[in-house]
Amino acid sequence: MRDLFDLQGRVAVITGGSGGIGEGVAQALGQAGAAVVITARSEKGLVRASKSLELAGIESRYWCLDVTDSCAVGRFAEHLQREYGRLDILVNSAGINAKGPALSLPESAWDRVLGTNLTGYFRVAQALVPLMARGGWGKVVNISSIYGSVAIRHQSAYAASKGGVNQLTRVLAIEWAEHGITVNALAPGYIEVPRTVAAYSGTSKYQDVIDRAPLRRWGKPSDLAGPALFLSSPASDFMTGQVMLVDGGLTVW
Ligand code: NDP
Repeated sequence: MRDLFDLQGRVAVITGGSGGIGEGVAQALGQAGAAVVITARSEKGLVRASKSLELAGIESRYWCLDVTDSCAVGRFAEHLQREYGRLDILVNSAGINAKGPALSLPESAWDRVLGTNLTGYFRVAQALVPLMARGGWGKVVNISSIYGSVAIRHQSAYAASKGGVNQLTRVLAIEWAEHGITVNALAPGYIEVPRTVAAYSGTSKYQDVIDRAPLRRWGKPSDLAGPALFLSSPASDFMTGQVMLVDGGLTVW
């Protein structure tokens, strides 16, 4: 039987690949044989993540890209066409949050979150998928969140953006199936990345997640490696438009 998880010869783009979950996914796809291109706004973060990919023996490149900038996204699509002439996997992971009561959340914060987490995913997918479609096979994996499905106080923009990502995933799945492209979402629960460790470590919220999750711990980016590889590989070829929750069981009750 062919290796269902083999990504040799595939090219994968991971937005938000300079840290946290995106970097973990880049490592997972690279280990499976894909050539990975990581993108983010800050070059410093990209250089650090690239070095770590290189140390793991993974073929990688980086590209500075703000997903809220349509022209920059267009230039990136042209670059991929010139450099690789193909694209097999797109992982949309570039995301931000802005917290606060809905009554006082500035509209600018709402726009920033929706512009990055939802419009950014759409913009990048719309620009890159024509290249993917030429190959007749492809995978789009949108990193959503448990808060695309369940509500959370004081995160109206974030939850709305992730709910939008789930619906966008379903619509794109219908539209792009004819090109051999599957579109799925991965919805993590609480994952320890430098940003969340800084915000929650030692707080009652940190312990509350452990108490509520049946698996009794926070996740790590490596906990998403298997699910991300599954959704990015031939192993998931008959699966599209789905939102896969990876949350230690947090939302089952
Ligand atoms: P991090 O803050 O660790 O990483 C975010 C990444 O996105 C960085 O590479 C950042 O680089 C990049 N980024 C942010 N804004 C932009 C932008 N406008 N254009 C391009 N790149 C951008 O976040 P996480 O790893 O925690 O989150 C990754 C994804 O996973 C997000 O979509 C998040 O909502 C989701 N998620 C995270 C969870 C968690 O517990 N950590 C749980 C559920 C979902 P730079 O700043 O240099 O641009």
